[in-house]
Amino acid sequence: MLKHNLGYPRIGIRRELKKACEDYWSNKIDSNNLFEIGNKIREDNWKEQERSGLDLIPCNDFSFYDHVLDMSLLLGVIPESYLDIPIIKDHIDLYFSMARGFQKNKWDIKAMEMTKWFNTNYHYIVPEFNKNQKFSIFSNKIFDELKESQKLLKSVRKIKPVLIGPVSYLFLGKEKDPYFQKMDLIENIVPVYIEIIHKLKNQGVNWIQLDEPILVLDMSEKEKEVFRYAYKEISILCSEMNILLTSYFDGISENISLLSDFFVKALHIDLVEDSNQLEKILSFVKESEMFLSLGIINGRNIWKNNYNSSIKKIEKTIKYIGENRVMIAPNCSLLHVPIDVEYENFIHKDVKNKMSFAKQKIYELNDLEKIIEGNRDLLFENSHLMEKNKGSSIIHDKKVKERTMKISENDIKRENPFYIRQKKQQEKFRLPLFPTTTIGSFPQTKEIRSLRNKYRKKELSKKEYHQKIKCFIVDVIKKQEFLNLDVLVHGEFERTDMVEYFSDKLKGILSTENGWVQSYGSRCVKPPIIYGDISRNGDMTVDWICFAQSKTKKLMKGMLTGPVTILQWSFVRDDQPIFHTAYQIAWSMREEVLSLEKSGIKIIQIDEPALREGLPLKKKNWKSYFDWSIKAFRLSSSGVKDDTQIHTHMCYSEFNNILEYIADMDADVITMETSRSKMELLKAFSKFSYPNEIGPGVYDIHSPRIITKEEIFDLIKKASKILPIRNIWINPDCGLKTRKWKEVLESLKNMTEAAKKARVKLITK
Ligand code: GLN
Ligand code: ZN
Repeated sequence: MLKHNLGYPRIGIRRELKKACEDYWSNKIDSNNLFEIGNKIREDNWKEQERSGLDLIPCNDFSFYDHVLDMSLLLGVIPESYLDIPIIKDHIDLYFSMARGFQKNKWDIKAMEMTKWFNTNYHYIVPEFNKNQKFSIFSNKIFDELKESQKLLKSVRKIKPVLIGPVSYLFLGKEKDPYFQKMDLIENIVPVYIEIIHKLKNQGVNWIQLDEPILVLDMSEKEKEVFRYAYKEISILCSEMNILLTSYFDGISENISLLSDFFVKALHIDLVEDSNQLEKILSFVKESEMFLSLGIINGRNIWKNNYNSSIKKIEKTIKYIGENRVMIAPNCSLLHVPIDVEYENFIHKDVKNKMSFAKQKIYELNDLEKIIEGNRDLLFENSHLMEKNKGSSIIHDKKVKERTMKISENDIKRENPFYIRQKKQQEKFRLPLFPTTTIGSFPQTKEIRSLRNKYRKKELSKKEYHQKIKCFIVDVIKKQEFLNLDVLVHGEFERTDMVEYFSDKLKGILSTENGWVQSYGSRCVKPPIIYGDISRNGDMTVDWICFAQSKTKKLMKGMLTGPVTILQWSFVRDDQPIFHTAYQIAWSMREEVLSLEKSGIKIIQIDEPALREGLPLKKKNWKSYFDWSIKAFRLSSSGVKDDTQIHTHMCYSEFNNILEYIADMDADVITMETSRSKMELLKAFSKFSYPNEIGPGVYDIHSPRIITKEEIFDLIKKASKILPIRNIWINPDCGLKTRKWKEVLESLKNMTEAAKKARVKLITK
């Protein structure tokens, strides 16, 4: 049996990579210093994995920014505009310019587009292809890192370079020219892969890992055809290399037949996301000589492995194909989990002893091997641990559990349908047509950040800190009144992060000290950990919102993060179905909503920006996802009276195919992104008539550009051709947190003026 790993976190235990990159970008260190820090991180990672006893250790899983961008450099996929800028061609600066843009003297070249890596919170740089795209080996990173690892590791036979496979790589990119399909580039790209594999072979490599997560998606016929072609070529022309073909994030049962046309040495499947596929895959593999790699350690979550359940899968596989052909591993790269749980000092033992970060996970593979070899004590200890905390009062709360599942139809339904609510709300609020509002946050300036730092370092008392935050609130209200916005917000100055703010206050969720995970480039996030039954310890936002409301006669929106988003951006407990956890959060948020209502707040926004990213990769699983996620949202929002207005916000514009579900959330008002796509979104709305009120974002907050009154007016005009006028709200795309005050004030002024003009020009009596 072979133990291996698909990839190790590369940020360094103290986020050394972040610091090094940011220092390099601000010219505090030079490229040699930067490379040294990279070397050190790789060395630590390799040595740790070697010590753990892995049989195959990944190489080329390190990256200074993003591993998809590394692939683009390896294959020479570099948009021309970056080759024009005056920097050395094979230098790291070219790489960073693609990732971050290049602004210097007369040069102003934008960064390449970034998007989410499948259904994770990791973002990659989207490769750009043109019609006659050429591929050729451009960067030596993979070959250099290989040499480096060969020097450092005792057994060079253990090194396994990792590459994104050609089909997934093409799939992840986008066409820059019209009239061609990226998949047609396969014949150009495969020869370069073959050349790379030969080069690696010449450097003494026996195993390589080709990641093809496309296998877990609903593949089109074209993609399937391309896949067969690519791997037939590669397997024939690289027959001396042991190729491990990996899939992750879901199962591949539907696509397994693709593998009958060629032979690769080993296939890796994800048994964490889809354990049901094992049977089918085994009967397929059995007929060949292929090795099967079982992805059984969860690389997307932070809990210890349940050995009993893993051993069953391993034993079953051994029975089918014999021990020699079995491999075990985490289901996916460990990039998505923090590095070492031993750096956590303040987590209660009942929780901590069940946790496992990247380092712990690779040692779990060792345990599993020992158990297979006969060490039953390890199995016993693990089962004992799994059972042990079942009574812990830190984790379990009987009352919460009872409530969780007692959700009646009435709990998830507003008192009356939308058209009745709308009338009542209109009578009560007397808002003009095209009412204007913002999404919640306002610029988080240096002053606010330094204020927060001081408070964290205890240089400010809580009272002083709150006093200062209140000044910011008063100021932002004055500004909004001056801008003539109709529905105001308090600015969210008391929050660093929209999930952290609530997870810090809810019972059953904890924050780690050092549990950082890469989100993109040098950006890391520290997802909260949901470890127990969730309940509310008291009001979380009411004081702030009521304070803000007391400072204005206009309507003040209460501002909450929705249950699905809190869940999606956290590590979730694995000892109960995910929907139980969702409903627990939803009940808590519902209490907060009701408390705001009771305190006189008439409009409450429940943000769900993560609703879409939780969408399963395969369409067949969408319905069951929406069943619980929409129910959770409705549970949090449906307790209010007819004349309390519920808003929700989502920051994306791809609503094709999911609009019906969004409508099912039954929020009175939804605000969303559209301005970047020039109201593309509205196409979806012309097919499905969305019943409630809607604010298609008219101001792209992702750009520092000031949007003109005319542009906004045009967008409103477009929207009013498709949506009923009385349902349209006017607002920016998303929160204004990352923008500068100057831009915000000008753009919002133009926005309110455009709305005013629309009220005159677009409303025919
Ligand atoms: N209310 C939040 C804000 O304005 C919403 C953020 C988001 O959609 N990601 O910042
Ligand atoms: Zn948003």
